[in-house]
Amino acid sequence: MRRKLAAGNWKMNGLRSALSEVEILAAAHPAPKAEVVLCPPATLVRSMARVCADNCITIGAQDCHQNQSGAHTGDISAEMLADAGAEYVIVGHSERRETYGETDEMVRRKATAAWAAGLRAIVCIGESGEERHAANTLDIIGGQLAASVPDAATGENLVIAYEPIWAIGTGLTPTLGDIGEVHDFIRARLERRFGNGVGRSVRLLYGGSMNPGNATEIIRVPNVDGGLVGGASLKAADFSKIIAALNG
Ligand code: PEP
Repeated sequence: MRRKLAAGNWKMNGLRSALSEVEILAAAHPAPKAEVVLCPPATLVRSMARVCADNCITIGAQDCHQNQSGAHTGDISAEMLADAGAEYVIVGHSERRETYGETDEMVRRKATAAWAAGLRAIVCIGESGEERHAANTLDIIGGQLAASVPDAATGENLVIAYEPIWAIGTGLTPTLGDIGEVHDFIRARLERRFGNGVGRSVRLLYGGSMNPGNATEIIRVPNVDGGLVGGASLKAADFSKIIAALNG
């Protein structure tokens, strides 16, 4: 049985004052059936980890460098994130792939670095609107999956987030059928590459305009094990409803 996962990606949002939202969220879900992960900006990882030391929320980061240390001004290593209290890290988010030209190979190296530091990697993959219109979605997803995920993947150290780029922050979502098709495809590819044991244990998240209104139906799609949630994770009231949907 794969435990459902609600992961919130705060992106470049949140000052220390926002930690009160985390306290409200934690109080509303003292013992959630689903795992709850919040990925604040790096500046809040340490303080959020402190706030969450005695509750059920786990902390993640939004990116890490592929190297352990060195001359990389402005970058943060996986080990530093773990040292600050993170247990997860998102790698390969489409905003980073687009803005910083992160390639599948870089994403794979980041996931490897995350594992070396004891973090779990949430590897993001997803097609652009153009690629979907050209009926290339599965080719794109298959290619990203093969090249972004390292060979040492397990159900413990890896989570895949399917995030169609055109659905992120737009209010648009694929049909449930389309989400199901992609998630089934990812599952099949994972089973083929890693065997049924690992392939069936890796959790697959849907991400892209998930909100309290659509979470329940999305989470019912087979092979959807949770959500990676951007905008709707910033307010405890919204994210709380998504967690409740995942709790079933
Ligand atoms: C994201 O950026 O990971 C995301 C899913 O954003 P949103 O929920 O705001 O579409």
